[in-house]
Amino acid sequence: MRKLLAVLCAAAMLTAVSGCAGSSSVTAASIKNAGVLKVGVKEDVPGFGLLNKDTNQYEGLEIELAKLIAKEFTGDDTKVEFTPVTAKTRGPLLDNGDINMVIATFTITEDRKLTYNFSTPYYQDAVGMLVKKDAGINSLADLGGKTIGVAQSATSKDAIQAAADEAGVSISFSEFASYPEIKAALDSGRVDVFSVDGSILGGYVDDTSVILPDRFSPQDYGVATKLDNKDLAQTVDDLINKWLNDGTIAGLVSKYNL
Ligand code: GLU
Repeated sequence: MRKLLAVLCAAAMLTAVSGCAGSSSVTAASIKNAGVLKVGVKEDVPGFGLLNKDTNQYEGLEIELAKLIAKEFTGDDTKVEFTPVTAKTRGPLLDNGDINMVIATFTITEDRKLTYNFSTPYYQDAVGMLVKKDAGINSLADLGGKTIGVAQSATSKDAIQAAADEAGVSISFSEFASYPEIKAALDSGRVDVFSVDGSILGGYVDDTSVILPDRFSPQDYGVATKLDNKDLAQTVDDLINKWLNDGTIAGLVSKYNL
């Protein structure tokens, strides 16, 4: 039985079908064989990964990077399948093989590098704060006693805690599974501040709210792959470095006004 399983898993590997424990060697070649690159992207981050509700198409720098990688792997930039992810779902989706890589404002941290491969950073953002215009909160110094809404599995909580400690103010937290929930909590007064990367706040600012000028904790975004897919990680990293050096990524940064 074990032998049969091993044979099946070997066959699955050849056709890039995942699901066999320990046999997740996705490579550029196996993606080419599969005929499609599966990428986890954001659907609510303007300029990075945004699902345009009018066209039903994804757009942004991270979407274009995914298409460029698909072109390198399959010869066709349309051979890419996008899966919308959140800070909470992107890791599990990668772990279970539903997607080949994550290009979704995923901050590279020392901790996360123990679980995933990250490419060289393609963009650096920083954490910011969104508040109601009439809240009387203008900077970190005004956060004393305030409740900060943050997303589960995001870097934001540690980042704003460190910034508040430095500013000498005491804060508390409410954690949410998604950004729309934090925005709703901000609107209804259950939290005083919505804190996450500035790029992400850009998708939620409206007439009643404002993004404060304070920025802290630089966030380097990298393309993440499964830890044991070393070849894939190396191939992707080579491409990101090529596009950093030849101006492709700088071109996208200016195209999307980032
Ligand atoms: N970029 C931050 C992180 O990776 C914020 C969360 C997010 O990307 O949604 O934790």
